[in-house]
Amino acid sequence: MKPTQPTSTRRAIFIDRDGTLNEEVGYVCSLDEFRLYDFAAESVRLINEAGWLAIVVTSQAGVARGMFSEDFLAEVHNTMTAQLALEGARLDAIYYCPHHPEVGSEIYRQVCDCRKPKPGMLHRAAADFNLDLTECVVIGDRFRDFAMAQAVGGSSVLVLTGYGKDEFEQDRNSWPRQPDCVAENLLEAVRWVLNNAPNQKS
Ligand SMILES: [Mg+2]
Ligand SMILES: [Zn+2]
Repeated sequence: MKPTQPTSTRRAIFIDRDGTLNEEVGYVCSLDEFRLYDFAAESVRLINEAGWLAIVVTSQAGVARGMFSEDFLAEVHNTMTAQLALEGARLDAIYYCPHHPEVGSEIYRQVCDCRKPKPGMLHRAAADFNLDLTECVVIGDRFRDFAMAQAVGGSSVLVLTGYGKDEFEQDRNSWPRQPDCVAENLLEAVRWVLNNAPNQKS
């Protein structure tokens, strides 16, 4: 007998990378510039333990700009995955946008559907994992992160690490919509999500 397929959809917490999981350094162009925040692993572990998917969504236009290759990006992501695993934390997937609308060689220079705040990465994840995006949450340090969540009817948390504090203090009056929550950092954001999420439908 085949095991029955789960019928309910799962929920995901989408996590921005730079400035949210790891220190914002502009562009991570060498492995030693990649430094996870000390609360990163615990945050991801809490997501794992709560049964949500932990999915990284990151804009990496440094590829289009010729600052690093997709192979190097894969190396950074392997390092990130390994460092998190050492502390018992697991990412379910990583999606990235390597594009830029104006710079780069043909394959990377394009008006894509995945450059934040466009929600292409969320749609790909929804297809891959059978997600209802209105039940998902994006956590990130920039307007473009929570605008991406709002574009698909999802929830959002702005963290004040990375660019978060500056954007919040300087730009919030011009934002068409505010994020659902503003948190000190990823750990506080995850706790807020897990405490405030309604019980899963179905
Ligand atoms: Mg960021
Ligand atoms: Zn893209």
